[in-house]
Amino acid sequence: MKALVWHGKEDIRCDRVSDPEIEEPRDAIIKVTSCAICGSDLHLFHNFIPAMLPGDIMGHEMMGEVVEVGSGVNGHLKKGDRIVVPFTIFCGECDQCKAGNYSVCERSNRKKEMADKVFGHATAGLFGYSHLTGGYPGGQAEYLRVPFADTTHIKIPDGLTDEQVLFLGDIFPTGWQAVKQCDIQPTDTVAIWGCGPVGQMAIRSAVLLGAEQVIAIDYLPERLSMAEAGGATTINFKQESVIERLNDLTDGKGPEKCLDATGMESHVSFSQPDTIYDRAKQMVMMESDRPHVLREMIYVCRPAGVISIPGVYSGLIDKMPMGIAMNKGLTFKMGQTHVNRWSDDLLNRIAENQIDPSFVITHTASLEDGPEMYNVFRDKRDSCVKVVLKP
Ligand SMILES: [Zn+2]
Ligand SMILES: [Zn+2]
Repeated sequence: MKALVWHGKEDIRCDRVSDPEIEEPRDAIIKVTSCAICGSDLHLFHNFIPAMLPGDIMGHEMMGEVVEVGSGVNGHLKKGDRIVVPFTIFCGECDQCKAGNYSVCERSNRKKEMADKVFGHATAGLFGYSHLTGGYPGGQAEYLRVPFADTTHIKIPDGLTDEQVLFLGDIFPTGWQAVKQCDIQPTDTVAIWGCGPVGQMAIRSAVLLGAEQVIAIDYLPERLSMAEAGGATTINFKQESVIERLNDLTDGKGPEKCLDATGMESHVSFSQPDTIYDRAKQMVMMESDRPHVLREMIYVCRPAGVISIPGVYSGLIDKMPMGIAMNKGLTFKMGQTHVNRWSDDLLNRIAENQIDPSFVITHTASLEDGPEMYNVFRDKRDSCVKVVLKP
């Protein structure tokens, strides 16, 4: 089959690889009908996530048709079923899964020994996201093996298009969880740093969950206008002071809820000297992540507020203003998404036309064009916000 394969820094190719096969009784194989490039795939593309190996298949946002099931799937799936695959693989039986904490499933990471050493305790297996999270082949491919397939799926009813439901596997629940964990009150201002695909989903989620004011921060005009269309007041950080504007918009008190949809590769610019410091330290491998957004959120957040972090961080950050966070009594909430905790609710909201997540798609291409689309997405060329690939 054809698949997008990681060969090294900024080197992803569409290769011919062998088809996946059933390896465990609970496996299923799907024929991928749609998959997407996620913002967090760019961290792999830039080689900022450790434990990728040449030959790894990319992709953790995908859906398709079941073509084969293992003997242990026990009727939960059958050939011909149409499913979205959540990016977090989960067993459904361990203590964490029973508590709904699917992204820290205790059994789905098959490289548990390595992950235990690095993280202290392993987290769940993820598709196409390095050997620290299991080294599972991803879904930017014609076919995908789904481990623990009897639990790791979202069944899609007829009548909904791929484009409407594809993002149930990652960016929609990721934006949703980030807002849910802020415990939104009707008087809240939610400020969202980063208007990429997850930021866009978070904006719509905050509006749906009844925040009084949603403020979105970015610098790309196409992303800012998409944010505005979703109901946000926007701040262009290249043209105005984020901290001044946020204080102006909240009677000088700061937003109660601050959400980091940017993650480890914060924008670098001379007007924000700490970003130059982080970039320099990152280049000599003395810091793995660039936490400018986190520093800014801690500074501007209203005392007793919540900092919510759906953006991906991979390792060590420097110069964190812990004293400010502690004295202001801030709460930090973060984590990979417990996708299936939210899927029934979100699927209903799509079916009831409360939201159509396909608004975020700007580019659709073939799998063969995938390597070039990584460049287009990375450079935000041609007003690119979100790429969907059709294998
Ligand atoms: Zn993702
Ligand atoms: Zn589990």
